[in-house]
Amino acid sequence: MTLLDLTPRAATGDRLTGPPVAIIGAGPIGLAAAANLVERGIDFIVLEAGDSVGASVRMWGHTRLFSPWRHLVDPVSRRMLEATGWQSPDPDRAPSGAELVEHYLEPLSRLDAIASRIRTGIEVIGVARRGMDRTRTRARAETPFILRTRTGDVVGEVAARAVIDASGTYRTPNSLSSDGLGLLGFDDIADAVAPALPDVLGAERARFAGRRTTVVGAGHSAANTLLALADLSAAEPGTEVTWLIRNRHAARVTSSADDDLADRAALGRRVDRAIADGRIRVVDGFEIIRARREQDRVELLGLRRGEVATHSTDVVVNATGFRPDLSILREIRLDLDDVVEAPRRLAPLIDPNVHSCGTVAPHGFRELMHPENGFFVVGMKSYGRAPTFLLATGYEQVRSVTSWLAGDLAAASSVELVLPATGVCSTGDRTGCCS
Ligand SMILES: Cc1cc2nc3c(=O)[nH]c(=O)nc-3n(C[C@H](O)[C@H](O)[C@H](O)COP(=O)(O)OP(=O)(O)OC[C@H]3O[C@@H](n4cnc5c(N)ncnc54)[C@H](O)[C@@H]3O)c2cc1C
Repeated sequence: MTLLDLTPRAATGDRLTGPPVAIIGAGPIGLAAAANLVERGIDFIVLEAGDSVGASVRMWGHTRLFSPWRHLVDPVSRRMLEATGWQSPDPDRAPSGAELVEHYLEPLSRLDAIASRIRTGIEVIGVARRGMDRTRTRARAETPFILRTRTGDVVGEVAARAVIDASGTYRTPNSLSSDGLGLLGFDDIADAVAPALPDVLGAERARFAGRRTTVVGAGHSAANTLLALADLSAAEPGTEVTWLIRNRHAARVTSSADDDLADRAALGRRVDRAIADGRIRVVDGFEIIRARREQDRVELLGLRRGEVATHSTDVVVNATGFRPDLSILREIRLDLDDVVEAPRRLAPLIDPNVHSCGTVAPHGFRELMHPENGFFVVGMKSYGRAPTFLLATGYEQVRSVTSWLAGDLAAASSVELVLPATGVCSTGDRTGCCS
């Protein structure tokens, strides 16, 4: 195992005069990191690829979260917002993604101390130490970071003393192919493939009404889309819904009786009911290998229970989950788990082969550290390919990381996390994550 350097070393200058801490992404976790840095008096800059804060959440804005408001607001951000007269929405109600942006992320981003530090429309396309590729070791920890950025056609660079990568995973979905490589034949069917969480009952209704849709994937995003399609099928004759999964059954969604997040448990029960009513047809044990176009139909070809199989449909929704974009971090020394692509110390706590629920031991800067002193991946991206990230976990991550950046090792080390029980255990092993 690599020995980590636990001492924060300012790359250059003091906390206000040197280069700022760079935060990649203005989602809920990037903005919470910003609020924590304001409280710590450390200068920072937030680089956001989208045109506005919460750009990824806006993409699924029509979808209701399963957590109620009381689990969705970062404690430091809440304090700063309340000081300006902001009132929290009903703590027991779960908002939609759009409401999360409107009632929380936007007001937070408008606070003077944060607004002046956010740059939207700037995509980070690479991170390195200034003048050093990943092989150069001498004086590495004291050398500032450089973030290569793109704004339209213009490429630029931003210097930083430390980097907090909170860029999420929403922009990099998994492949439909069961081997994880790009799906063979994808280009032929690309126009018939929708990304996860399409607005089936709203803006994209015409795409699905009166047609056969196949939702691929076994998680909550798949469940949300299946239920919307089942509702559509009641109103629009000819609408057919198929749920195609690789496993024999989708325990993560359907056996959720122990889930403290009531809305999420209800989601599973509603899917069960729609299957029992015949509104959703299930094709399980299907491993997709390639796709092809047959006139105006899409054919997914693969193996089902060891036999060659074909599935015919009009539209495919890719709800197979997301993976972290590690390409921008090629020049950064990372210590990632081989399976989960999460930091090696965090991975055993969230590996979906062992844990299928969102309950996780409290963790902070130690679990999130990489051999690159001053570089952290936080939020959804810190979970790599594990699908169980919850915002409350990310808020505690950034509290610990920013305390460490401020040199407050005591606060950074004292991590506490109270999460709702999310006993949605597909392994059946209730002694690990769900006990
Ligand atoms: C449908 C759905 C429902 C969910 N419901 C819940 C729930 O109920 N409770 C809960 O706790 N969690 C929930 N989650 C999980 C998780 O909390 C959210 O995905 C949350 O948005 C993650 O926050 P984040 O800040 O880590 O990432 P994101 O919200 O994805 O934000 C990342 C930001 O980084 C930007 N970005 C990406 N790449 C770059 C780049 N290269 N350069 C610059 N900017 C970049 C993006 O534009 C985006 O604004 C849900 C997720 C989904 C998809």
